[in-house]
Amino acid sequence: MQSVLIIEDEKDIAALERDYLEINGFKSDIATTGEEGLKLATANSYSLILLDLMLPGIDGFALCEKLRETLDVPILMVTARKEDIDKIRGFGRGADDYIVKPFNPNELIARVKAHISRYDRLTKRDKKPNEIHMKNLTVDHGSRRVFLDNKEKIFTAKEYDLLYFLASNPNIVFTKEHLFEQIWGYDAIGDNTTVTVHIRKIREKIEENPSLPQFIETIWGVGYRFQK
Ligand code: CA
Repeated sequence: MQSVLIIEDEKDIAALERDYLEINGFKSDIATTGEEGLKLATANSYSLILLDLMLPGIDGFALCEKLRETLDVPILMVTARKEDIDKIRGFGRGADDYIVKPFNPNELIARVKAHISRYDRLTKRDKKPNEIHMKNLTVDHGSRRVFLDNKEKIFTAKEYDLLYFLASNPNIVFTKEHLFEQIWGYDAIGDNTTVTVHIRKIREKIEENPSLPQFIETIWGVGYRFQK
């Protein structure tokens, strides 16, 4: 059963949310302070968090930021103040949605369901294998280690990230620009040459003959592709 964390200091509202969630097949836990909410959220895996903005102690915005440091579950903010709406909208990727009190409980449930199913779709699509085997190559993502013929090859963090990204998306051609953004990020210092250099180093570690690669293929004028 999917469960929702309700962080809400008004007991009546928390109970209303809990009841409607229950009728609709969700379990829920209630936290009445931000601190308690943070503790529950990190100790359990909820499908969604309903977060009241006005809380005693740590407020909803600060709490949302804290939650986002470690969690990527949908956060639905609940606010009693219309003037908070602009602030929530401007809050970037912190909150996924908001609802204004007093709300129609059926609308609340509809939003909860929509966000949970959207999140499920996204995570299923993005789910990557934990261990990749290809010929004599093994990439173990649990420990971030690479083995060739069962012997470990030592990779730097970026070399590993690049190999794992390519190997977990086999048969797709990626441009150097895409790979650079993916592994180093938009703001990083460096350029596409960085990608070329890293590909060369990876090949030296895993290819029998780096100039005739069997794993990472060069698609001239386009980029690279991991062959499966
Ligand atoms: Ca409140």
